[in-house]
Amino acid sequence: MVILENHAFFVTNGFWVQNHAVTVADVVKAKEAYMKEQIDSLINLQTIEKDTENIKLVLNDVSKRTEALDAKIGMFQKQIECDESELEDLQKKYRSWESDAQLDLSRVKKSETNLRSVKTNKEYQAILKEIDDLKTKTSQIEDEMLECLDRMDDLGNTIVAKKKEYKELIDITNQKKQTIEDDAAEKIKLLAQLEMDRNRVSKTIDSELLSKYTVIKGLVKIMAIAPVKNAVCRGCNLNIPPQMYNELQKGDDLIFCPNCQRMIYWDNS
Ligand SMILES: [Zn+2]
Repeated sequence: MVILENHAFFVTNGFWVQNHAVTVADVVKAKEAYMKEQIDSLINLQTIEKDTENIKLVLNDVSKRTEALDAKIGMFQKQIECDESELEDLQKKYRSWESDAQLDLSRVKKSETNLRSVKTNKEYQAILKEIDDLKTKTSQIEDEMLECLDRMDDLGNTIVAKKKEYKELIDITNQKKQTIEDDAAEKIKLLAQLEMDRNRVSKTIDSELLSKYTVIKGLVKIMAIAPVKNAVCRGCNLNIPPQMYNELQKGDDLIFCPNCQRMIYWDNS
């Protein structure tokens, strides 16, 4: 074993080894331990950032989700208003038919009175025809009124049922909105915790490594540091060269995927 000169401190990648007789094996060991720690911190940081992004996505969706719920209620309310206005139109139509029928009935009565005082057969026949026409017209109006009554009944029942459903929908919607808001409040708390975790973990990472990680993240967007399992980089799903895979398994240096340029680490699970 090679014994290095008597160093008070030996520095390797920011790792300080305090020893009076540092061996090459010690340095390699220390370097490996340091790199392992750094890689673990980078993976940890990546997980924190991923969790943060996921939470932000959910939070961005909160207003959309509540708006969608409100829109559903608004549509339901419009349907009820539409039915109510149709019912109002039918009621107006019914009242107008009712007064038409009453008017025709009084005309029939008047004609029947006139019938008693006619002098000629021609006049008599003319009044009879008039009475007949009025009765036919009244009968048609009455048929339409009956149909209208049925439609008003159906519509009235539909409106009552829809109003009941509307009330239930409001209750359910309020509950759903409350759940969304409670969940969002929890997520905001979690976000603050993740931000603290992010700061804490960032401080444990060598500044040069951290800036490399940030640059790669800006380029690849997803997974700046990728696991390599069975010589396959999980960032790009391509094989890395065998020699590089051997180096990677030693874990004493930071290695970049030759295909996607991500930072890579050995996944031996
Ligand atoms: Zn890759």
